[in-house]
Amino acid sequence: MRTQIAAANWKMNLTLQQGQDLLSDILSKSTSVREGHAVIFAVPAPYLQAAKEIVGDRENVYISAQNIYSKTSGAYTGELSVEMLKSVGVYHTLIGHSERREYFGESNQFLAEKVDVALANGVTPIFCLGESLEIRESGNQNAFVATQLEESLFHLSEDEITKVIIAYEPIWAIGTGKTASSEQAEEIQKFLRDHLAGKYGQETADKISILYGGSVKANNAKELFSQPDIDGGLVGGASLVADDFVAIIDALN
Ligand code: PGA
Repeated sequence: MRTQIAAANWKMNLTLQQGQDLLSDILSKSTSVREGHAVIFAVPAPYLQAAKEIVGDRENVYISAQNIYSKTSGAYTGELSVEMLKSVGVYHTLIGHSERREYFGESNQFLAEKVDVALANGVTPIFCLGESLEIRESGNQNAFVATQLEESLFHLSEDEITKVIIAYEPIWAIGTGKTASSEQAEEIQKFLRDHLAGKYGQETADKISILYGGSVKANNAKELFSQPDIDGGLVGGASLVADDFVAIIDALN
């Protein structure tokens, strides 16, 4: 069975105190995360270390960065490296969130470099992809996400690709309250897995967790997560409310 994952993406929200309170609250309500499940919190960079301390040695709970740079150190003012993450005990990072692609011009090629530097340093990439409303309406979503996969991930070896978590997030469903229906999400996530199988073989493709993101809420998580190719969610807005995120963790298969 693939790992079923509830991942929180706090984006650029919360003060340190609010973040600490939220994390403590969620962990006190979700006391043990069972084998085969993972709960990940992608917190703002200045809170990584404090968040890590709150998590302590709890099993299957991880702190993640929201972004990294493609170089490990040097004269890159304002950037965050995998070396820095590792030095505070963080071994996960989002890569290629649509907000990074859209507002910061991150290309598939640049994201491939970030994936490489993460994997070379034992950091798990949570690689995000997904189409805009315009592409969805033109019916070209499969070709679009296939290109995102190919250009950022298909240079990886079979062993490397199984270390990547993929998050399909249709841009038109992010923060809009408009969730992809579970059928729509399943259809494209199955397509992504088939595309991975075409390149790496079914056995390898079956090991890769593919999350859905885009207005996952406490009341739709169960149905989304019950789809065969949806292995959990990457959650923005609803991850900022303790009870909602706890319900989403509880909705994992
Ligand atoms: P949302 O964000 O749950 O607020 O739609 C998801 C994301 O952008 O990761």
